[in-house]
Parts: sequence; structure tokens; C-alpha cells
Amino acid sequence: MAFKSKIFILVFILFIGCMQPESSRVDFALGTVCSITLFDQGLDSIYNEIFARIHEIESLMSVNIPSSDISRINKAAGIEPVQVHKDTFMVIERAVYFAELSGGAFDPTVGPLVSLWGINRDEPRVPSQDEIDAVLPLINWRNIKLDSQTSSVYLTQKGMALDLGSIAKGYAADEAAAIIRKAGIERAIVDLGGNIIMIGERKDKNPWRVGIQNPIEKRGAVIGVLQITEKTVVTSGIYERYFDKDGIRYHHIFDPSNGYPAKNGLLSATVVTDISMDADALSTILFVLGYEKRMVLFNYLPNTETIFVFQDNSIRTTDGVNFTVTDSTFFIKN
Ligand code: FAD
Ligand code: MG
Repeated sequence: MAFKSKIFILVFILFIGCMQPESSRVDFALGTVCSITLFDQGLDSIYNEIFARIHEIESLMSVNIPSSDISRINKAAGIEPVQVHKDTFMVIERAVYFAELSGGAFDPTVGPLVSLWGINRDEPRVPSQDEIDAVLPLINWRNIKLDSQTSSVYLTQKGMALDLGSIAKGYAADEAAAIIRKAGIERAIVDLGGNIIMIGERKDKNPWRVGIQNPIEKRGAVIGVLQITEKTVVTSGIYERYFDKDGIRYHHIFDPSNGYPAKNGLLSATVVTDISMDADALSTILFVLGYEKRMVLFNYLPNTETIFVFQDNSIRTTDGVNFTVTDSTFFIKN
């Protein structure tokens, strides 16, 4: 009997030993599919902590949650400053930094344009020029007043609205990566709807291989493979959110100077760097500014590489990028 129970215990231990740790967890948050993969040490408790943090960031920074800091700031536009969580304050501060750096190509007060075009709603539409002209004066990052003493934010004009859709996913990815690194996990992938951080390197010591989305094909089709170690990769493109009307594609990244989806011959702009929040903002900026004006930015930014994909299927990369085209309809033109 005792022997039998010992065998049972042994079998049980072997079974536990063979059980694979959870290899990845996928959840819906930030309006997108969020996937975390922890290699070798995929503890439930770490996954729980990461997703709790992502949901916390969403509850602070979403425009769709009425109690969020961003919704409260927007409701109080032109009325009074609103005290916010230090994380929200920090992300807005960084957004303002990028607004200034980009000469307003990136503007977190883009909210009224996003609403007008209804890009994130079921029935998007092309607004009239009068409607666009009416909201353009509200798009102005200079009218965000920040008070770091009280951690409060004031939008000076009624009708102004913040939208952190171009930067907060990157912040959430950085926060997820921070939890993973703190837990001592050496190899992991954070993918928040295409905001990717590759932690460590592959088990065989080779760099990670990240596919770059084909901007004109269905999700998952790639134009090529990027090899990286311990970097973040973020792409802004025409394919993320869009609608077609009378043969014209209208996407979700707006040029604040005219109120229309940015149009400069690009299909997508990818940024490879160290901080995902910065990469998120930078990919949006590059998509708005376009290839010709990119240097306005890059004189300031070390350790930042880019991949631009153009409407004629040409691709231009910076020198430090290890990128191989796998779809023969695209070609490198450096
Ligand atoms: P990016 O290029 O990184 O950003 C484009 C987005 O930024 C646009 O969608 C717009 O929101 C904004 N933007 C457009 N032009 C500019 C500009 N010139 N300067 C600055 N910003 C600009 N989606 C939903 O459908 N439902 C949700 O409930 C929802 N909740 C979200 C909550 C949070 C906290 C975040 C961060 C995102 C959420 N989203 C939601 C997704 C969001 O609406 C955007 O569609 C998404 O973040 C776009 O990311 P991207 O990487 O594709 O594009
Ligand atoms: Mg972005």
C-alpha cells in the first residue's frame, strides 16, 4: 500500500514536472488584442499582475471610460483644471514633449477630429469642410496647461479633448515589460495590438524575428522580417483603422494642420528603439510628417531606427536595421 502511494506521489511529481508553464496569455484591452508570452517562467501570478496593470492604465487613460482621467479632463475643458493620477500626468507631459518636438504634427488634443470622423465608431464618415474648419481651432497642444505641483491638467478651450490613442499603448507595453524584468524573467514578448517589446534573445542566442505587417493585406501577412534583441518595435499605418468611401481610403492618423488623414505617399512607418511609449509617439509623428521631413526629428533621437513603406511598395530603412524583405512585391530602395 505504502509502495503504491509512493508510486502515486512519484507519478504526480513527474506529471507536475512535465506540465508546461502557461506559454502566453491573450486578453482584450486598450481597444485591441493584447498578448504576453513569458518563456520558461510563465507564472500565473506574473500574467495576472501584467494584465491588471494594463487594465489599470486603460481605466485611467481611455476616452471611452467616463470615469477615466482623460474623460474627466475633457469634460472640464474650458471650465477648470482636473487633478489626475501621476501616470496619466506623466504620459500627457510626454505627449506634449512630442507635440513640441514635431511642431504639432503629433497633437494629443486631436480628440475632436477623431470624434468628427468617427474612425473608432461603427459608422465613420467624411465630414464637410465646414465641420473640419469648426474643430481645427480646438486642436492645439499649446492649450494644455500642466501643473506638476498639483498633478492637474487644464484644457483652456471648451470643446477641446485629449486622445492618447497614439502613445498610451506604448506606455502600457513599457509597464508590462517593467513587471517582467523585475520578476527576473529573461525572455518574453509583449504585444499590445502591434506595440511590441522583445525582451532578451531567443533560446538559441539568435535575435528575435519580428514580422512587419503588410499594410495592404489581411492581418498576419508580412512584407519582411526584422531581427532584433531587447528592443521595441511600433508601426503606424493606414491598415489599423480605416474606412473606404467612393474609392478613397480614409485612415485614423490625422494631419492636425488640415484635419484630414495624413497623406504623403506612405503605407506605414515603423520605429525600432528602446522605449515603447516613445516609439508609439514617433511612429505616429513619422506617419504624419512623411519621409522627407523625418530628419527634423532624428537629429534629436539616438538609438532609433526606422522602416518606411511607401504606396509604390518601395521600402526605405535606416542603416542600423536588420530587415529582410520576404514578400517579393515589395523592394528596398535605400
Ligand atoms: P497610432 O499611430 O499609434 O495612433 C493613432 C491614434 O492616435 C488615432 O486612432 C487617434 O486616436 C490618435 N491620433 C490621430 N492622429 C493623431 C495625431 N496627429 N497626433 C496624435 N494622435 C493622433 N479603441 C477602441 O476601438 N475602443 C476602445 O475602447 C479603445 N480604448 C482605448 C484605450 C486606450 C487607453 C488606448 C491607448 C487606446 C484605446 N483604443 C480603443 C484604441 C485607440 O482608439 C486607437 O485606435 C489606437 O490606439 C491606435 O493605435 P495605433 O498604434 O494603431 O496608431
Ligand atoms: Mg503611435
